[in-house]
Amino acid sequence: MPITVLFAAGPALWDDYRSALTAALRDAGLDAVLTQDAAPETVDYILFSPGGTIRDFTPFVRARAVLNLWAGVEKIVGNPTLTQPLCRMVDPAMTASMMEWVVGHVLRHHLGMDVHILGQDGHWRGDAPPPPLACERPVTVLGLGELGQAVARALSVLGFPVTGWSRTARAVPGLRCLSGPDGLSAALTGAQGVVLLLPDTPDTVNTLNAARLALLAPGAFVINPGRGPLIDDAALLAALDAGQVGHATLDVFRHEPLPPAHPFWHHPRVTVTPHIAASTRPGTASRVIAENIRRGEAGEPFLHLVDRGRGY
Ligand code: NDP
Repeated sequence: MPITVLFAAGPALWDDYRSALTAALRDAGLDAVLTQDAAPETVDYILFSPGGTIRDFTPFVRARAVLNLWAGVEKIVGNPTLTQPLCRMVDPAMTASMMEWVVGHVLRHHLGMDVHILGQDGHWRGDAPPPPLACERPVTVLGLGELGQAVARALSVLGFPVTGWSRTARAVPGLRCLSGPDGLSAALTGAQGVVLLLPDTPDTVNTLNAARLALLAPGAFVINPGRGPLIDDAALLAALDAGQVGHATLDVFRHEPLPPAHPFWHHPRVTVTPHIAASTRPGTASRVIAENIRRGEAGEPFLHLVDRGRGY
């Protein structure tokens, strides 16, 4: 009897995923029916994203797992009706995408590219002093998980002295690794750039607050592709206005889409991007999903299980 895979990630994504998922399930050797609509008690696996419609998982009595199409799980992890295992998206294509996006924005600020890209005004600015080399610009990456480690390693290969910070102690070759509350102060002190790749949990809200922004080197850049609540917005705006932060590149926000009247849109030293740092790509993500369903059917442990207690 075929297994029933419910696509509950929202109708807007159905066309993008339908053929990729069908092919991935078939290639994994699974006899599966992929559907947007099934009686809850007949569903074996639930594919979820925050745009989906399921709020109550109680009727899905047979579901063996909920597979999140996104890496972040803050919109589902606290749902008290969810008793099934929850897996999040970890996909090499997503990791590569995040690494490329962050490296691009770090280099923009490091090299001062805006001066020449925006300043095409006939003025020859050849007498400006050269920027420091990467090896002279310490950068801190908050979060040393799948994405943070990839980003930190890439920056380290470019020559930046990279400090990484995580909840538990980590050892990553080439990086200065710190952890815990004391480690956070040390990681931020004197950093000329900071990249936030933490999950949104009760413990990470306002990780970058006024006191911690004050630890950065004056004029440091802040890059946030993690989640909006990681930064105290008012503190960031104040630090930008005071020159303590030279520029903020923000991909994620407390409210998305970012409301048109939000000061971030209008601040001359803020760059807003619309949560596109590392979008889930249906082709590769479908293979991750299919592999996890294959594992579920074979009685093997799921990949990328979320720890409900930790919240990520
Ligand atoms: P992981 O779960 O692999 O890594 C999370 C990291 O954060 C770990 O190093 C973890 O520490 C650390 N961490 C968690 N809580 C704390 C804490 N309280 N104090 C210190 N460190 C903490 O996640 P990913 O790397 O895969 O993704 C990170 C986030 O990136 C996602 O949660 C999501 O919000 C965001 N994201 C954004 C995208 C975009 O397009 N903008 C796309 C994809 C993801 P430890 O190592 O000790 O567990």
